[in-house]
Amino acid sequence: MQEQAVAWRKAGEDIGFVPTMGALHAGHDRLVARARRENQRVIVSLFVNPAQFGPTEDFARYPRPFDADRVRLEALGVDAIFHPAVDQIYPPAFKTRVDPGPLAEVLEGKSRPGHFKGVLTVVLKLFQIGQPKRAYFGQKDFQQLVLVRQLVRDFALPLRIVAVPTVREADGLAMSSRNAYLSPAEREVAPGIYRALKTAAGRFETGLTDPAALEEVVRDLLEGAPGVAIDYVALVDETTLRRPVRAVAGSVLAVAVKLGSIRLIDNVVLGAERL
Ligand code: AMP
Repeated sequence: MQEQAVAWRKAGEDIGFVPTMGALHAGHDRLVARARRENQRVIVSLFVNPAQFGPTEDFARYPRPFDADRVRLEALGVDAIFHPAVDQIYPPAFKTRVDPGPLAEVLEGKSRPGHFKGVLTVVLKLFQIGQPKRAYFGQKDFQQLVLVRQLVRDFALPLRIVAVPTVREADGLAMSSRNAYLSPAEREVAPGIYRALKTAAGRFETGLTDPAALEEVVRDLLEGAPGVAIDYVALVDETTLRRPVRAVAGSVLAVAVKLGSIRLIDNVVLGAERL
């Protein structure tokens, strides 16, 4: 893959790269479509990265419908699918890991120790292999987006990170490969996550700027929902990931909940739809 990518770049072609773990849905499609519009070549990686899963997480049972993903990507007109085996990315001699620093110690990073170390390590390697001019990431994984942008800055990587707004089901639930695991009862409750976020965003629009009060709006709405266990509700600055004194346009309200055994995350940007 790397040789092909280098040849494309030598020929003056821009490469758009979309890293995914497969089990593709309309959210992934949006990233790929944007990459298709903005680059001469598009590479999509399908790799369930063991390094970003904790020991009790769902690595083994993460869905891997490779044939369906391939058909989907061919229909979207991608130039190459990169679908490496685990030991192609992590051969026995592999030793180095990216330390993501303090921004990985809050929110997802706090609940999932080591997660972002695994993410940034694979992303750095994938960028080397795919040689992108632009790489596409979903706003749904907001902290991941912030950390990947930091990786690019810190290591002076010669590419641009493009953020793509969250694609949702008709009822507001953020699309996720994990939604397929929700029971019918859980699936009915799940759209309440986005409804709660939108309610709080509405309160911001009408003048509520106290971060704790905005978080409380979300908590109050979610706590009543059957089967929902809140991991965190956090109003944070979009670059420092710290709670600001006052919420402003651009602040991010982020949530993680467990619905039964399924962990779901979502977020909204106050006063705006994109980062
Ligand atoms: P994943 O396969 O879950 O690792 O996701 C691959 C990429 O797709 C990441 O950049 C995600 O943020 C992005 N993504 C996942 N779900 C959505 C969604 N509902 N809308 C937009 N982007 C998404």
